[in-house]
Amino acid sequence: MTEKFDSVVVGAGPAGIAAAYTMAKAGLSVLVLEKGEKPGAKNMFGGVIFRHHTEKLAPEFWKTAPIERHVVEYQYWFLSKQSHLLVSHRNQRFNGQYNAFTVHRAKFDPWFAKLAEDAGAVIINRTTVNDVLKENGKIVGVATDRGNVMADVVVAADGVNSMLSKQAGLREEVPEDAAVLAVKEVIALPKQRIEERFNLGPEEGIAALLVGFGPGMHAGFMYTNRDTISIGIGLGMRDLDKSKQRPNDLFEQFKNHPSIAPLIKDGELKEYSAHLIPEGGYNYVSNISTDGMLVAGDAAMLVNAINWEGTNLAMTSGILAGETIIEAEKKKDFSTASLFRYRQRLEDSFVLKDLKKYRDVPKFFAANPHFFTQYPDAMNELAYMWHVVDDELKEDRIKRMKAYLFKRRSKLGLLRDAYHLWRLFS
Ligand SMILES: Cc1cc2nc3c(=O)[nH]c(=O)nc-3n(C[C@H](O)[C@H](O)[C@H](O)COP(=O)(O)OP(=O)(O)OC[C@H]3O[C@@H](n4cnc5c(N)ncnc54)[C@H](O)[C@@H]3O)c2cc1C
Repeated sequence: MTEKFDSVVVGAGPAGIAAAYTMAKAGLSVLVLEKGEKPGAKNMFGGVIFRHHTEKLAPEFWKTAPIERHVVEYQYWFLSKQSHLLVSHRNQRFNGQYNAFTVHRAKFDPWFAKLAEDAGAVIINRTTVNDVLKENGKIVGVATDRGNVMADVVVAADGVNSMLSKQAGLREEVPEDAAVLAVKEVIALPKQRIEERFNLGPEEGIAALLVGFGPGMHAGFMYTNRDTISIGIGLGMRDLDKSKQRPNDLFEQFKNHPSIAPLIKDGELKEYSAHLIPEGGYNYVSNISTDGMLVAGDAAMLVNAINWEGTNLAMTSGILAGETIIEAEKKKDFSTASLFRYRQRLEDSFVLKDLKKYRDVPKFFAANPHFFTQYPDAMNELAYMWHVVDDELKEDRIKRMKAYLFKRRSKLGLLRDAYHLWRLFS
């Protein structure tokens, strides 16, 4: 039997659920197909969800949603082999005016999906979509391992590898220079010990970004949950390919760093996972709408790697896809031209405006890996020189520090780097 819906959404992640909820609330018939045994079962991230964008769908969600901790401190670690330099921002305002919450996707996604279900969407788990169905070149539904389903518009919210957008001819595989491989562990520790180690109150959490280990553009992350720590590294696929290093070895090296190891000491490994992040930015967001189909979230490569934002772009693109389909339903026009409104909506929103602003950043850092290697190292060495107390005159010390810095990076190189950063971010 083939059923027909106003919209079929493939994937019950933040993008898919936001789209389904938006449409179901407006009275459209919506089916969500999810390959996992439940929403979130297949999903991994760092990570945090953001208050501002999540509240657009669920006001004061933290009162009922399974959140872990609200973030009160953002840490930026610059590592060298034996040391670290830490810049952090803790603000009591984050205690009243929540900004971001650490969550486990396996707990948060089912809660989030229930919003769409309560609004009238039907969610079917354990169902893999294998292909798009076409009639006269137009997408009219999807083929699943349980049979075919027809729809006026299909929303491909099937994540970074989006088989659906490839089958619709909208996208290729994620190119190597736009993909980051993230490997992550969830490590259990008693709640109180996490709070002692990170100097946190009972509900408070930290989000940490760490650079300066391994070759190339590698970054580490750490998030405190209630009684676990999410810790991982992101490895540029191209760098990984060039360096021939194994992700596991780099991850072990990272966890054994003398500044990191004490934070996770005596923890019990609960979970290990790996996932791709589409970090290429605006230049890789190409076709995201066609006759009968829209692409949202990671499937459309909507990730802001600079600010570590993904779920909010996914949710917003889901909402905008939903609104576009509601409009198309009113006109009964599901053509490419009608659905192109989705792209325009995204261009008018922070999603593509932010990615456009940073469009040259990924390429710049890829061409200048010394920001992730030489600079963290030099910052640590300079901090060390500054703090050692001995007979050396401060005048000589400062000369030595300058000589060290200019040996690592010429004056012209430093000026050039500062100029480029200014241009990229201003
Ligand atoms: C290590 C890591 C850390 C991150 N940290 C953060 C962070 O701190 N904050 C943040 O905002 N973002 C973060 N992100 C990014 C964020 O996770 C993604 O941007 C976001 O999850 C994208 O949502 P989505 O709904 O588009 O895709 P996903 O969350 O990937 O959901 C896609 C869904 O589609 C389903 N699916 C796939 N194929 C099929 C199919 N053929 N049939 C049926 N179902 C299918 C999957 O099972 C999945 O449920 C991080 C990502 C990673 C990997």
